[in-house]
Amino acid sequence: MNHLLKATAERAWRYLDGLDDRSVAPSADAIATLRRLDEPLPEGPTDPQAVVALLDEVGSPATVATAGSRYFGFVVGGALPATVAANWLATAWDQNAGVAALSPIAAKLEEVAMRWLLDVLRLPAPCGVGFVTCATQANFAGLAAARHALLARQGWDVEKLGVFGAPPITVVVGEEVHVSVLRALMTLGLGRDRNIRAPVDGQGRIRADSLPPLDDTTIVCIQAGNVNTGAFDPADEIVPRAKTAGAWVHVDGAFGLWAGAAPSHAHLIRGFDGADSWATDAHKWLNVPYDSGIVVVREPQHLRAAFSITAPYLVRGEQREPEDYTPEFSRRARGVEVWAALRSLGREGLAHLIERTCRHAARFAQGLRAAGYDVLNDVVINQVLVSFGDAATTRRVITAIQEEGTCWAGASVWQGRTAMRISVSSWATTDQDVERSLEAMIRVAAQVVRGGGRD
Ligand SMILES: *Cc1c(COP(=O)(O)O)cnc(C)c1O
Repeated sequence: MNHLLKATAERAWRYLDGLDDRSVAPSADAIATLRRLDEPLPEGPTDPQAVVALLDEVGSPATVATAGSRYFGFVVGGALPATVAANWLATAWDQNAGVAALSPIAAKLEEVAMRWLLDVLRLPAPCGVGFVTCATQANFAGLAAARHALLARQGWDVEKLGVFGAPPITVVVGEEVHVSVLRALMTLGLGRDRNIRAPVDGQGRIRADSLPPLDDTTIVCIQAGNVNTGAFDPADEIVPRAKTAGAWVHVDGAFGLWAGAAPSHAHLIRGFDGADSWATDAHKWLNVPYDSGIVVVREPQHLRAAFSITAPYLVRGEQREPEDYTPEFSRRARGVEVWAALRSLGREGLAHLIERTCRHAARFAQGLRAAGYDVLNDVVINQVLVSFGDAATTRRVITAIQEEGTCWAGASVWQGRTAMRISVSSWATTDQDVERSLEAMIRVAAQVVRGGGRD
């Protein structure tokens, strides 16, 4: 075991160290080599060293270099050094974090991480917090709490009786709602299309003056950080109105909520703290390894009611039982990395991470504009949408940039216009990375626009 783990650490280090010199996208060769894994199940055992060697030799080159410093696709953070190392140790522990008696350390770290999270995200304590796989699952959990609360108020026990025959719930979302909220509604029996879409402005923000009438059977889903533009719904207008009507406000703040951790950007999350539930990710802007999402509910009893269940073998003490706050029972101790990230960064380090990535995004926007390209969004946080001309040209440029390999950014369509979407979410990105990527983007775009292709 000792030799295996040391050799594996050496491999991991070589992998990370090599990221700067390789193409961000894996080569076609590396992907083709994955064929080597298409072998029959071995009849006998294999030495663990050989298993890891195969994994490294075939697997490492076929990764996308999202752990590196020039990956700007989707909204994808890297993993802070302390979180990678803490994750390794926690994997060696092999703790089941679902039940406090199964892992006092996992339960403790969740409690500490929870307290720190509410502090840096400027959310009210004491909320109920669940450590889930991702923001999609956090949206699911937050909306499950909402469903419970609104139906309980009408005398309907949804956990016991289900949604068939239940009093109706109205759901309001913005036109630019993230699909993960729709997926959550779909799995909760609230329906993917059974909602009212509120009109939005050119940045994707809900127009507060176009909200439908709200009442105490309504869930209003608002957004902190649009996945394309990074824009924030006007929570300081929407939340007080919704609360006066008795509606439940749920916030999808997968990455945007973290803007609150930087004093320079905290004004963006003004009013969001008045909501009833929040969903966010730690694996995006906090830069912890996958998978790590967080649900926060103002009144913990609603989250507990949505998920907790009893069994004779589950003996309860005074302590917070982690599985009362999540859909899962058994799960890994993902609070470990959230704790390690916050413990290693501190309040200032986290603020710098948010500020630095926003500054990088602003530099991308400025550089691309100076080169003559259209930036489609107001760059308020870490997201930039750039058009290189018509849809076909923009798509060709994006493909050429991905193939060139210095960096990687993906395509999106923003309110009818095809764009390259740049998201700067990694702790590892430096000024130099931004300049190097900008130079590559502009050079490749010029070649494509001029020549209709790239040599
Ligand atoms: C990324 C994202 C999600 C979904 O997050 P996952 O962690 O991939 O489930 C939801 N909402 C917004 C705004 C996002 O950016």
